[in-house]
Amino acid sequence: MTAPADVMRAGAAKLGVPFETVPGFATRNSNPAGAFHPVAFMLHHTASPRGSDARGYVTRTAASQLFVDRAGKLWLVASGRTRHPGRGSSRVLADIAAGRPVVEDAADRGLVDDTDGYAFFVGVEVDNDGVGEPYSAEVVSATVAAAAITCAWHGWSPDRVIHHRQWTRRKVDMSLRDDLRPAIAAAIAELTDHQEAPMSTLADPQPAWAQDAVTWALGHGITTGSRDADAPVTARELVTMMYRAHKVTLADAQDAVRSAVDALPPTLARTDVERIATEVATSTVLRARLALP
Ligand SMILES: [Zn+2]
Repeated sequence: MTAPADVMRAGAAKLGVPFETVPGFATRNSNPAGAFHPVAFMLHHTASPRGSDARGYVTRTAASQLFVDRAGKLWLVASGRTRHPGRGSSRVLADIAAGRPVVEDAADRGLVDDTDGYAFFVGVEVDNDGVGEPYSAEVVSATVAAAAITCAWHGWSPDRVIHHRQWTRRKVDMSLRDDLRPAIAAAIAELTDHQEAPMSTLADPQPAWAQDAVTWALGHGITTGSRDADAPVTARELVTMMYRAHKVTLADAQDAVRSAVDALPPTLARTDVERIATEVATSTVLRARLALP
């Protein structure tokens, strides 16, 4: 999902960017209906004529979650799944899962569209004709804010911000060629008071054997992180992934943990397991990740 409206409003204010919600944003989405568990952020231009305003069109068609108008105002259009990504390459999802920055366009990499992107991306449509219209400083600031607020809220690195043309060879947007990631990184640091660094980018790519599995888990919303596939999983991460896989309630998860503990042979250090299970079940980190009250 997008960051909540109050988070976006506070973030935009902190970054000095005007912000407004479009009425109905909380329930707006577009077909095809389905899952929405974003893992990255996508940049677009609207290809609208100079001097026009595509907000009405973007709203009517639920084209994207966010919109930047020509005056540099950021709008929250839709909180749900929208149609901006279309089909693209699963190799880009694998790059995102592995923490590999995506720098080349899909056409230049010879990537083939093999995956629907609707579930995976929060996106911003930026009003620009795409054929030479300059991007004003205000428009760039609002675009950077859109990406940074989303990344900060999800805990994403700026490497999770990609252009539509990097997702699919069918597209050329956005026409802005500048690398916005340094500015987005600075804005994330500003938003988080430099307290919390974004997830680090892994230096090593995921091993080949893991890529299909990582892409599958990403596609089913079971993992959203970028981790070295050879690194041991922690108890918290495992329970979080199991929870996502089974969509169980926290009470069910606690019952399952208790049953598992009861089934352990008495020779094992049961108190240690119970302590870990209790910690996992009551962890504020876990509860926050699972969006539980
Ligand atoms: Zn696009």
